[in-house]
Amino acid sequence: MVHIGNDFEKADVGVIGEKIAYIGHCPGAKASRIIDADGKYVLPGMIDFHTHIREPGVEDKEDYTTGTMAAAHGGVTSVCVMPNNLTRGIASPEDFQYAVDCGERHAVVDFAPIPSPLAFHSGSLPRLVEAGASCFKIMEMKNSAPLEENFRCGDSYELHQCLAAAAKTGKYVSIHPMNMDWYLGNVKRIKESGEPQTLMNVLHQLYGDEEMSSAAWELAYFFRKTGCKWWALHCWHDGYIDLIRMLKRQGDMDILASVEILPTSIRCFDTLYNRNNGSTIALGHAAAPNWDHVWAAVNDGTVDILGSDHSPHLAKHYNPEEAFASGQGVEGEDYYGSLLLDAVNAGKLTLEKLVEVTSINGARALGWAEKCGNHIGTDADFTICDMEKVWTVDEKFPIYSKPHLDPLWGQTLHGKVISTIVRGRVVMEDDKILAEPGYGRFIRG
Ligand SMILES: [Zn+2]
Repeated sequence: MVHIGNDFEKADVGVIGEKIAYIGHCPGAKASRIIDADGKYVLPGMIDFHTHIREPGVEDKEDYTTGTMAAAHGGVTSVCVMPNNLTRGIASPEDFQYAVDCGERHAVVDFAPIPSPLAFHSGSLPRLVEAGASCFKIMEMKNSAPLEENFRCGDSYELHQCLAAAAKTGKYVSIHPMNMDWYLGNVKRIKESGEPQTLMNVLHQLYGDEEMSSAAWELAYFFRKTGCKWWALHCWHDGYIDLIRMLKRQGDMDILASVEILPTSIRCFDTLYNRNNGSTIALGHAAAPNWDHVWAAVNDGTVDILGSDHSPHLAKHYNPEEAFASGQGVEGEDYYGSLLLDAVNAGKLTLEKLVEVTSINGARALGWAEKCGNHIGTDADFTICDMEKVWTVDEKFPIYSKPHLDPLWGQTLHGKVISTIVRGRVVMEDDKILAEPGYGRFIRG
């Protein structure tokens, strides 16, 4: 069954070179290779709109090779690479070009590094757009925080100036809302009460409803004021979703909203299984949004796109006793597509909706015409899925992400990505990576 238009139909797909050349019925057609997808679903290649590959900067956690192998394994044909590195971000045209070079040498799927809009300080935003930036990414982590200067903004004034400058580029600014004032005030109370600064006591509040939704209201003001296009990241709490739904109905802002599907979050647990030594790592901070509300927002169009927020750390970076010194986020890229197929089988969304939110909506918004669904002339990117397969994660399912900290060990999923095809080439089949580093190509915005 092939996704065509807004539907699935039984059909043949012909590929010449890197492009789709034919969709229809052609029994007996000759081809150098025929892939039999009978009984399977052929989706337009899934795009992970939010992933963290730690190169350049923190390659011991993840690099373009391991990160994009994990993506291919997860059914992903293209990735937006968000910068959150302690040691090196992307806030200049030179750093952007360096990230593109890293990807061109090492990636196995197509990729788009996302630079910081704080490049406005040096007047470099137009040069970044010229160099092919698809959009921008910033973290609204005001006050002191352990992230570097070119990734977080310092205060609301800087944020306002930044958005005003970015508005002129016509590109989306993606932003993780953070009300550090609320968070730090809360932490102060916890300290005064004598409670320990554990993850369970502190860190989960950093991604809670009050903290994120209140920040989103401030963001709404600045995006409206400046006319900047808003990519509203992590739209997963009730107050934040309600705000975006209201603003979209009002219709005078350009908003692209995403929800990030972390395995720990969607399954509401807070441990990782360390495949290196069989130990268990307690996280103690699983954000637990109201998933009924989230899926309703996906289904009514409030949320436009999905991402994994794949955020690999090494085991030593998690410290449940010390919230401020603990890794935030988990790896999950190897599971991304299959986790979403499991959600389809659980009735959370339809397969048609899945195609919209993992491919078409975002490709359109970012100006990636060649990645915009199964049409003649678009890139031959496909995610081939077995919707029937029920499987339990064990050592037969490899993890390509570098840290090997497994968020779904021992869990059962219904639905599995069996093959990933990028520009006509099979890059993953039956859990094996078949493309060499350097096959992936930079996607220009
Ligand atoms: Zn992220």
